[in-house]
This record gives sequence, C-alpha cells and structure tokens, in this order.
Amino acid sequence: VPSSPNSPEQVILVAVPVPGLGVLSYRVPAGVARPPKGARVMVPLGGRTVAGCVVDPHAAPPANAELRDILEVVDADPFLPPVVVDLALWVGEYYASGPGDALAIAMPPSARGGQRTAFRTVTRADLVTGAPEAPPPRGLKQREALTILGEAPGGLTLPDLARRGVGAATVRSLAAVGRVRLREEIVERDPFTAGDADGAGGHWSIAQASTPGRALTDEQTDALARLSAEAARAQFRTVLLHGVTGSGKTELYLRLADAVTAAGRRVLVLVPEIALTPALAGLFRTRFGARVAIQHSGLSTGERHDQWHRIRRGDVDIVVGTRSAVFAPLERIGLIVVDEEHESSYKQEEAPRYHGRDVAVVRGRMEQALVVLGSATPSLESAANVRAGRYEGVYLTRRIFDRPLATVRVVDMRQEFAARGPEVRFSEVLTTALADRLAKGEQSLVLLNRRGFASVVFCRQCGGTIECPRCSVSLTYHRAARRLRCHYCDHAAAVPKRCAACQGEYLEQSGFGTERLEADLAARFPGARIARVDRDTVRRRGAVTRVLADVARGRIDILVGTQMIAKGHDFPAVTLVGVVSADVGLGLADFRAAERTFQLLTQVVGRAGRGQIPGEAIVQTIYPDHYSIRAAAAQDYAQFLAREMEFRTTLHYPPAVALVNVIVKGRTLEAALTGAQDLVTRVREIGLAGRVLGPAPAAIARIKEEYRAQFFIKSPTTRRNAARAAIERALAERPDLKRRTIVDVDPVSVM
Ligand code: ADP
Ligand code: ZN
Repeated sequence: VPSSPNSPEQVILVAVPVPGLGVLSYRVPAGVARPPKGARVMVPLGGRTVAGCVVDPHAAPPANAELRDILEVVDADPFLPPVVVDLALWVGEYYASGPGDALAIAMPPSARGGQRTAFRTVTRADLVTGAPEAPPPRGLKQREALTILGEAPGGLTLPDLARRGVGAATVRSLAAVGRVRLREEIVERDPFTAGDADGAGGHWSIAQASTPGRALTDEQTDALARLSAEAARAQFRTVLLHGVTGSGKTELYLRLADAVTAAGRRVLVLVPEIALTPALAGLFRTRFGARVAIQHSGLSTGERHDQWHRIRRGDVDIVVGTRSAVFAPLERIGLIVVDEEHESSYKQEEAPRYHGRDVAVVRGRMEQALVVLGSATPSLESAANVRAGRYEGVYLTRRIFDRPLATVRVVDMRQEFAARGPEVRFSEVLTTALADRLAKGEQSLVLLNRRGFASVVFCRQCGGTIECPRCSVSLTYHRAARRLRCHYCDHAAAVPKRCAACQGEYLEQSGFGTERLEADLAARFPGARIARVDRDTVRRRGAVTRVLADVARGRIDILVGTQMIAKGHDFPAVTLVGVVSADVGLGLADFRAAERTFQLLTQVVGRAGRGQIPGEAIVQTIYPDHYSIRAAAAQDYAQFLAREMEFRTTLHYPPAVALVNVIVKGRTLEAALTGAQDLVTRVREIGLAGRVLGPAPAAIARIKEEYRAQFFIKSPTTRRNAARAAIERALAERPDLKRRTIVDVDPVSVM
C-alpha cells in the first residue's frame, strides 16, 4: 500500500533476531494501526520474511534511505513488556552483541518465528442438565458415562473418562445428541509435577517443610528489618546479603517475598542452576503455591512456553529461574533476588555474553525494585561495589543456632607422595575419617573438580599423549563409556591399542577424575552406598536431582562429585567433606583462579555440619600455603578479599579496571594472530583511555578446529563504554574479521 503524500509517514524501529544486526527502520503502511512497543511484526529482510519486535513505535524517518513496509502486525498489544524490550536493548549495547540475540532470549521458544501461541489443550465433557428434548441414553456404555459425569460437577476430561472406562466415541455420541457439552481447555505443563520416575511430585518434594511460623535468629531479624524497609520504599536499591554458609539466607528470601507480594508487587528469584538447587524452587512453591513459575533451559519447549504465558498473563507472582529468567515477562517487580551471586554460571558464554546478576541489577533500576544479591563468598565485583557505596552490605555472621562452621584440616599431599608414592589419591587422614563416618552412619561428600577416570593417556615408548584431533588438549579416559573424550568439543574416540606416533604398545593412564575416585571408594569400602554427580552422570533429565534427593533422605553414604556437589545444598546429616585436590583450578592462566578456588572450597566446606553434629573438612593440596587455600581453610572471607583485591589492583584486573576480552579465530594460528594484530593496531589508533594487551595465542590455542588469538582491553572503570565503542568501530571497518571475532565484555572466563 503506497502511503499517501499528505499523511505523515509512520516509521518504527524493529529489532530482528539476527546476530550482529542493529535495530532497523520500517514503514507502517497507511491505514495500518501503528503497533505498540513490544509487539511482534513480520518484516522483509533481504529476500526473507522474519519476525521482529517493535522497539520504538515513533521513530523519525532516516534521512536518505528507502524504507520498506512491514508485512504484518502480529500482536495488537505488546507481546513483550516494554521494560523487557528496554532491558534487551541495554544488553545488546553493553555486551556489544546487538539487540536481536537478547530479544530472542526474552521470547518464549515458539514465539521467535512470529507464531501465535501453541498451547496444549484437552477436551472436557460435562453433563447438560434439563435437556428434555434429548433422547434417552442408548445402551449400557452411554448410561454408565452419564452416571459418571453426573457425579462430577466440574465435568471430566477425556483422558480422565478414558481411565474410568468411558471411551471418547461414547462421549462424542452423547455430545452429538445434546446430553453432554464438550469444551477445549488449556493444560498447563507444570514442571513441578512433570515426568518424574518416582512420581508424587518427584524431586521437588525434597524441600524441607515450609515453616513460616518459626522464630528468626537475632541476626536474621535485623537483616529482615533492613531489607523490608528497603523493599517498602519501592525504589531502586542493591543490597549484598553476605551470610556465612548455613546462616539462613533462604528464609530471608522467603519472608521478603512474602512482604513484597503482600504489598502487591512481584518477585523474581535467580538461581545458578535449577537442577542443583531444586530445594530453593521447591521451598517457594511450598510457601506460595501455584503463583510460582519456574523458568530454565532444562524445561521442555512446551513447559517453557506455558510458564512464559502464565507469567505474561499475570497469573504468577513469583518467578524462580536461571539467568535467562532475568528477561521474564513479569510486571510490577518489587524484588529481585540473585542467590549465590558469585556463581560463574550467571555468565552466558555465548552471544549475548551477558551476566545474569549484572542484568538483574539493571532490571531492578528500570523497575524501581530492591535487588538482593546473596552469597557466602561474594564476588570481588560485588564486594567492591559495597566498598564504593553503590551497594549496601547486610551481614549474617553466624550459623543458625550458632552451629559452628566445620573444622578444617589441610593435608600437604607433597609429604603424602613422598611417603607413599605419586599414585596416592586419598591421604591416610581422609581414609580414616571416611571409615569413621561410615561406622557411625553419617554422610560424607568427596569433591574433586575434574571428571572422568584418567586425565591423560600417554605412550610409555615416546612419551606422547593422546590429544583431541580438533582441540589443543589431551583426551580424558572415561571408563564406564570405554572412551576417550574431549572436554571442550565432546569429541569421542575408542582407546587405541597402539600409539599413533610410534606404534608403541604400552599406553598408560595418568591423572584422575571423579570416576576414578568413585571406583577407589567402592573398592576400599565395599557395602558403602556411593553415588557420583558430575556432568557425565547428569546427562539424563532429573538424574542429579534424584541423587541429591537420595542424599537428603539418607540413602547415600558417600557422594563423590565435581563443583556440582558444592552448591547451596542443605544436607544436615553430612558431617565430613573431603577435598581431594584443592588445587585443580589454581594452575589455570586465569586471573579468577584464586577467587574460584576460594569460593569452591568455602562453599564445599560449608556443606559439613549443618545439622546437630559438628562438621569436619579435610582439604588435600600441594599448595598448602597458597592464600586462597589458607583463607578457605580459615573460612575467612575478609582475609581473602584483602589479598585478592590487592592482586587485582596491582596487576590491573577487574574489578579494579574494566576488561574486554577479544578472541579472533582463524584456520591457522598465524591467521588468527594477524587478524588480532590488525584489530589491536586499529583500537590503539582510535584511542580509548585504556591499555591494549596482546595479541597472543589463547590459553587453549585451538578449539573445534579453530585457532584462537586473544587480546585484552583494560580501561578505567569510568571509561568502559569507550573501550567497547573502540572495538566495535574497529570491527565495523573489518566485516571479514567481525565474523570470526568474539567480544566478551566483563569476561568471567578468559581461557
Ligand atoms: P544458607 O542459604 O545461608 O546457607 P539456609 O537458608 O540453607 O542457609 O539455612 C540453613 C538451615 O537453617 C536450613 O536448614 C534452614 O531451614 C534452617 N533455618 C533457617 N532459618 C532458621 C530459623 N530461624 N530457625 C531454625 N532454622 C532455620
Ligand atoms: Zn576437542
């Protein structure tokens, strides 16, 4: 439809889910109502038609461009709440990813192509009473059906009727003669009750009983008073709730959510990984019932779709979810909780590379909400924000009932190796302690943050190791699968009989992971009930939660696992935690190595002694004097923070500076390095009040057949936008490089 020359042109800005594209201008044909912000529209893009989202319904026509018309308005009302559109735009800009990717995350799965909603429906039948015209029932089946329906005032669904022996054909024949009315209704696919092998509400029921009546401790009372006062002001504020492990942070989240929902506002709760924290989701569900929705990537597409629409319709007051839930279409938010705010899983390691915690704070600002970041081991970023006065600090320094933190014993494995050889995996101290707990019927956790059976397979003749053909890392041996596997690209191969390089026949294994520990423990303690949790054992949906539920019910004696077992679990019968190699992460070329080690150790040690019996932790290490291990053993956050902050400041790492990590990929290392060098040169020319370091080959120089060169841009925290602008400009001039470059703003992992 050509727009008439007299009517002013209606121009709108549209974001399309195409990586790297900015917002685009389109014309709304005359006679078509201007779609509101957040509505979906079908637009032409090149030769294709794509679904986009209106981000600005009143844009100025660009100066000298031919505008194309939108093809269709999908939604007359905003499909996404306007705040969520703004949030996606902010993410697209801050993380240099463009708005399309962020908007795609905000959309429910089925809506991205512009489809109208796809609900699952079921047919419900009920009796038509007082239908004198209708013929009497014919035959036994019809009479039976009428009797059953007569006793069900709300009617019954066809599947319900089928279970009682009434077939769909019978119901339909009764409907045809007017004795029965049929209607379609939407079935909510509810992940709280869905598909569990053990049925009956499944793993969500492991949450402890809701106890709204119990008295808070003095510390909890003070903290709640401060937090509630902040929430009542209905203004943006961020509070870091720093509470030692077992200090009762969860109870505070629940009470705060109570106060906020009672005041008519809604609550968003972010958790690092739902599968590992089903108890928290379960507690909210127990306390608040059906007005809680959960959102995470482990749900089926149908479940995610239904949860999204429940939230969007306003049927939900509380959303519990993983990082992408920060884009939940919840309106009138008064409180956002980010539990375990230090967790690296809040950072998305693909575009848009956003940090769920930081986006939560931005959303809190847009919503005029209180944001509570909870942790026993706050990130350096959040600690720095408290220091700078941007966040308020609220502290819980003691455990519930003043239960002591676990006592920690550090075992120097160098002495152990000297005495008993390099193959020792369990020290005498740890072995004895495990035997003692088994004898007493108490539970133990054994942590090793490395999965698999053997980390390396090497040839005794030439010394060569078996590497991934696609990545520059060794393959790990997985015994149960009888395969070698790459932990970066998942490449799998059979174990060869001979060395590929020298045909040597003696291939040996070295290094060990959780699978090996599990086997060791089974051999050492026959009869003990041992389970393992790591990425290999959790491939099946619901598998982790089932193991965790077994631990909670006392059906497991020793739980072996990677960092997955260190999360916020509350297992009161665990009295011993053993850390097999505390230093696994310390050797990595990553400025966060010490922070991660400290957090992991403190968190896992915090799993012990949460019940009546005091806990003990045994930490095996070859670096007993490293400050992250010492501070974790002392469970002294302040001591760690002081040392680490000094390191970050002196060596110019976040949070002392703003960091952008740029990775350029190439078919050869040289191509990658040359490309990176071109960008470095250009960024330096543009100038940005910062420093550029590199390029150099990345710590893992090759992943999935691509070589990787890396450089950093470090800038004062007040100039972070300038640094990003410089790299974006350099890339805009080089589309050839842009396609193979990753820009990671505020990186969490720099490997
Ligand atoms: P955190 O998240 O701080 O590690 P939790 O919230 O898991 O700690 O609380 C630790 C344990 O203390 C849980 O079993 C919880 O149910 C219990 N708890 C919390 N607050 C109270 C209270 N006021 N009285 C009694 N038990 C409490
Ligand atoms: Zn690989």
